[in-house]
Amino acid sequence: MKKKPIEPRQRAELVEAAKTAQSHAYCPYSHYPVGAAILAESGKVYAGCNVESPTLISNICAERAAIFHMLSHGERRIAAVVTVSKASEPCGSCRQLIREFGDEDTPIVSLHVDGGKEKVVETTISKLLPHAHTIEVLEEARGKS
Ligand SMILES: [Zn+2]
Repeated sequence: MKKKPIEPRQRAELVEAAKTAQSHAYCPYSHYPVGAAILAESGKVYAGCNVESPTLISNICAERAAIFHMLSHGERRIAAVVTVSKASEPCGSCRQLIREFGDEDTPIVSLHVDGGKEKVVETTISKLLPHAHTIEVLEEARGKS
């Protein structure tokens, strides 16, 4: 099913939520704050920021923090994702989790803000993560054994 594009009002709300979350990032090691906002299927917005620790294994990305925020409120489906950082799109782990709770055409908007410059990268999760490992892949493999 083809997703509708993000409405301008929702997009503005997502960008604002992601920017606010980015301002709350805890990143004393990388000094690379990231904010993310998830538009859930219900229309509600859930934000998250990256959080780091000196152990390095306890870190979490903004995207997964936002997804866990959504999940902890009982929602299970992602309609869209907006991230705000200096220059990046969601990492591999986050892409896998976005695909888990989204569809292959879930829109991903990455806003790069560096000083006074802004750049927008718009794509879908299937373009960022082709051949994703999904429940459908597992079920198909089980059916063949
Ligand atoms: Zn990530």
